[in-house]
Amino acid sequence: MKAPAFAYVKPKSLEEVFELLERHGEAAKILAGGQSLIPSLNMRLSAPELLIDITGLKQLANISLEAGVLSIGALVTHAQIEGSEVVRKHAPLLAEAVGHVAHPAIRNRGTFGGSLALADPAAEYPAVALALNATIFLKSEKGERRVAAGEFFKGLFETDLRKGEVLVGAEIPAQLKDERSVFLELARRHGDYAIVGLAAFKGAAGTRFAFLNAGAKPVLARNAAAKESLAEAKEALSKELDPPADLYNSADTKKHLAGVLLARAWNRLST
Ligand SMILES: Cc1cc2nc3c(=O)[nH]c(=O)nc-3n(C[C@H](O)[C@H](O)[C@H](O)COP(=O)(O)OP(=O)(O)OC[C@H]3O[C@@H](n4cnc5c(N)ncnc54)[C@H](O)[C@@H]3O)c2cc1C
Repeated sequence: MKAPAFAYVKPKSLEEVFELLERHGEAAKILAGGQSLIPSLNMRLSAPELLIDITGLKQLANISLEAGVLSIGALVTHAQIEGSEVVRKHAPLLAEAVGHVAHPAIRNRGTFGGSLALADPAAEYPAVALALNATIFLKSEKGERRVAAGEFFKGLFETDLRKGEVLVGAEIPAQLKDERSVFLELARRHGDYAIVGLAAFKGAAGTRFAFLNAGAKPVLARNAAAKESLAEAKEALSKELDPPADLYNSADTKKHLAGVLLARAWNRLST
């Protein structure tokens, strides 16, 4: 199928984007890499009157490290993350996760901010953001807001992005020497969306297990993370996780697989 007719504009500044969002409201949609939005237009799941292409805003396409905080702009592509030495060194969990995001052609265009804004429960970055306690950076005509990942993801494809706001990037605390992380995912084929996945992080403040595709949004398994032994953690996880079944896997299968990933992560974080 082909997309319905729409108008297209490629602003040169964020201010211009804010002005367009204000003027067109719900009728306008931001276009970043287009790897989720364009298929949804082609399938007629969405019919915006105006696409605001933000890929001209090159200031949103940078990765930087300052005072122990890694800043990743919304327009940084998956491929940029994959090739970044800074990400590999200071956010190894994200570096590990990006290898599971789709296939090279999609990684060349799809963006970090697009994935966070879309909030697909099967996507890798929202779970990584949750595990790393990232802060999402939003801007609008009214000013800027910083929202913790734990509060940003609200439900199925639902976030705290408000009317007129643009997601401009995220800030991730750089991983310290004695901190550990691991990303694990089970998929039918490498690069497909996960059946279930786990972004795990262990630091001085404790362990964070963030599961993807195990609920309507990324799920932080707090009870499992608080346990002393793997057996106790698996028991706690089976009570706190309630994944929906999908076309190929029952809820029980997904729960079982989540337990398998938990065991693998537990062992990797302990060695
Ligand atoms: C075949 C296929 C396989 C895929 N597999 C995976 C996978 O395994 N894992 C995975 O995570 N993803 C996967 N994706 C999705 C891909 O990662 C997309 O790149 C990503 O989900 C969206 O990024 P985008 O830049 O393409 O956003 P777009 O498609 O341009 O936009 C997506 C949505 O986010 C909004 N948006 C975009 N940027 C912003 C912003 N800065 N501020 C506010 N709103 C914004 C748009 O309005 C739109 O609603 C796959 C896609 C395809 C086509």
